[in-house]
Amino acid sequence: MFDAMRIEIINTGSELMLGRVLNTHQQWLCRQFADRGYTVNRQVAVDDTGPAIEGAVCEALGRAELIVVTGGLGPTSDDRTRDLIAALLGKKLHEDSSVVAHIQDYFTSRRRPMPASTLIQAMVPENTQVLMNAHGTAPGLVMEPVGSAGIACRLLVMLPGPPRELRPMFSEQVLPLLRDRLPLPVPFVCRTLKTTGMGESQVEEKIALSLRALTDGGMDLGYCARIGEVDVRFVGRGVEAQRSVEDAERIVRGILGPLVFAVDDEQLEETIVRLLASRKQTIALAESCTGGAIADRLTNVPGASAVFLAGLVTYSNEAKQKFLGVRAETLAQHGAVSEATVREMAEGARTATGADYAISVTGIAGPGGGTPEKPVGTVWIGVASAAGTIAQRRFNAFDRETFKNVTSQHALDLLRRQMHGAA
Ligand code: ATP
Repeated sequence: MFDAMRIEIINTGSELMLGRVLNTHQQWLCRQFADRGYTVNRQVAVDDTGPAIEGAVCEALGRAELIVVTGGLGPTSDDRTRDLIAALLGKKLHEDSSVVAHIQDYFTSRRRPMPASTLIQAMVPENTQVLMNAHGTAPGLVMEPVGSAGIACRLLVMLPGPPRELRPMFSEQVLPLLRDRLPLPVPFVCRTLKTTGMGESQVEEKIALSLRALTDGGMDLGYCARIGEVDVRFVGRGVEAQRSVEDAERIVRGILGPLVFAVDDEQLEETIVRLLASRKQTIALAESCTGGAIADRLTNVPGASAVFLAGLVTYSNEAKQKFLGVRAETLAQHGAVSEATVREMAEGARTATGADYAISVTGIAGPGGGTPEKPVGTVWIGVASAAGTIAQRRFNAFDRETFKNVTSQHALDLLRRQMHGAA
């Protein structure tokens, strides 16, 4: 074993303490570190007043080798992080001409006038490395405080608050810096297999024994249950890391087969778009109770336009008849939430759009509308394709938001399995 380096994160912002903004940096940064073999030991959120930020940074400087501070680098009066940390470390600020040029460019290229106050972001503490902000104006700042009495910190990184600025800056600039200046003492390999269609304990029952030799040999194995998915995570350290993680992946894929749908960060909707695009095939949707949630997920994926033709949200019986050709007799005889209706919805969407595949969903999200035969949570999912139409009944008795999430996951997974011939 080796002594792990101590990492601390300080998230600043009064909006975090008022509950007006969810602290996604905490989760996102911890995950980025963990997946690369670095463990965050402590994370605090503080308001953006001087004493709160100073207190948190002073404490961390004495014990952490790496400190990441987020937020408070902007041009407004509540953005104090840069000035406070410079003062704490006894560094003067000077105007950095490359940051001035970047800020001017930022406004010129967007044809917007540059408020004079923005140039305050070009004030950089001495002996500080600047990380240019490709998506905004406030640069990230990297200092090396170690050397003074009582300071353990080797790298102090300040990052801008907006996630769309912080995330690319961290991935593209901070991670390479970390590998270079605070490298891990031993090789580290981490892989996550994403599975769907089975609960966490079932997954564990199926695979744990077969992975015993690898886990006994030091590979870490972890499970994480999410809505409609279970992640299986392997971590290997040392010279054997790569080989043991690859062996583990092979074993689990052999046991779970098509239940494994993606590796690492890929989402199910990304898997679907990737699969369809690689086969040059298209998809259409006929959604009722999911209200467009499946269309939303698919259209969040870059490149969706190559595969996604149309999504119809047919909430009423009339709309199901008018736009999808569901027959009045089918609705009268079986009801809107039925196998017969879901099949006609999928086939109708496929015919109307000419797509290779059509997914349909009809169900009772609740809280009202349930009956003894069709209780709240009952949902039918259909997939129509050249191979025919399949339909599946699910029981997703949750609040409306979770119902939509889980049902859209089931629907996308039914399509995925149909595409693999495994539905
Ligand atoms: P700006 O130039 O926008 O002022 P900044 O570096 O000063 O950037 P903040 O003012 O602290 O950053 O935060 C800007 C916005 O970024 C916040 O209003 C919030 O929407 C988002 N943000 C800040 N911190 C977090 C966080 N921990 N998690 C998620 N979002 C955050």
